[in-house]
Amino acid sequence: KVLCTAGIIVGLLAFFWRDTFNPDSISGARVLLTGASAGIGEQMAYHYSRFGAEIVLTARRETLLQKVTEKCLQLGAKKVFYIQADMSSPQAPEKVVQFALQKLGGLDHLVLNHIGGTPFQMWDGDVEHTRWLMQVNFLSYVALASAALPILAESKGSLIVVSSLTGKISTPFTISYSATKFALDGFFSSLRHELAMQKQDVCITLCILGLIDTEMALEKTRGKVYMSAYPAAEAALTIIKGGATRAREVFYPWWLELLCHLRDWFPNQRDVVIQSFYNYTSA
Ligand code: NDP
Repeated sequence: KVLCTAGIIVGLLAFFWRDTFNPDSISGARVLLTGASAGIGEQMAYHYSRFGAEIVLTARRETLLQKVTEKCLQLGAKKVFYIQADMSSPQAPEKVVQFALQKLGGLDHLVLNHIGGTPFQMWDGDVEHTRWLMQVNFLSYVALASAALPILAESKGSLIVVSSLTGKISTPFTISYSATKFALDGFFSSLRHELAMQKQDVCITLCILGLIDTEMALEKTRGKVYMSAYPAAEAALTIIKGGATRAREVFYPWWLELLCHLRDWFPNQRDVVIQSFYNYTSA
């Protein structure tokens, strides 16, 4: 009986977590990707290229964008363009979406991935930094989505929002960052309801990532957390698959989903476990 129940559970898990991704669905897809000059965004640019997508890349550092563009062309992207933009400027989102529309003639995937720099340390009361970070990490996402929604509605496209475990479960040393990620969940999960109510076929995929081995993340967390970092290329592929299969949420690594489900069951024990992952004396 026990074996039979275990078999059913394993079968159900395998069914729900089966890979339904079809790479052909991305071939020729028109993609606008933010935060594409480095880290996970750069890796996503390479994956989209291998699948034969048409891409517009954006970030602030032009020399890096040029290099990523060249590599994307070598990897098989059908078209690649880049536009330099600083998402702390309220004018940037509209400019970037218009550029993508002009170059690609429409949009199938909008991938919101960029983040502004923020210290990994105890809260020091810097309200101005929180305001700025809200602009870069949250308000620019809202503005980009708002400018692109009519275009995505036409193509029945996907809006992919890259978030973090710290946007589902609160953790120390990333207070302002965490607030911007929680805000993304609130905004885009509510927007998902309204799009469904209006029968608009635009899918919203929220991506919940754990610690990923990007240069920036490793540099910031070195000596301060006791967790292993997962590979950026795999995180990037998981995000792309989630958007292409129109998943509501994706988790990388996969077990973060279980952690999120358990989030509210044992709050005191949960907080003690979370604190044990961080080195209090170094931050
Ligand atoms: P990186 O810091 O490596 O890259 C950030 C990207 O955003 C770069 O391309 C950077 O380019 C761009 N960027 C930074 N500031 C601005 C700005 N003001 N305007 C426009 N673009 C900007 O980040 P990751 O690759 O690590 O993170 C990518 C996503 O994954 C983020 O949403 C992050 O929250 C999420 N994530 C990452 C984790 C990790 O451990 N790495 C963990 C959980 C979530 P440039 O400087 O040229 O502008």
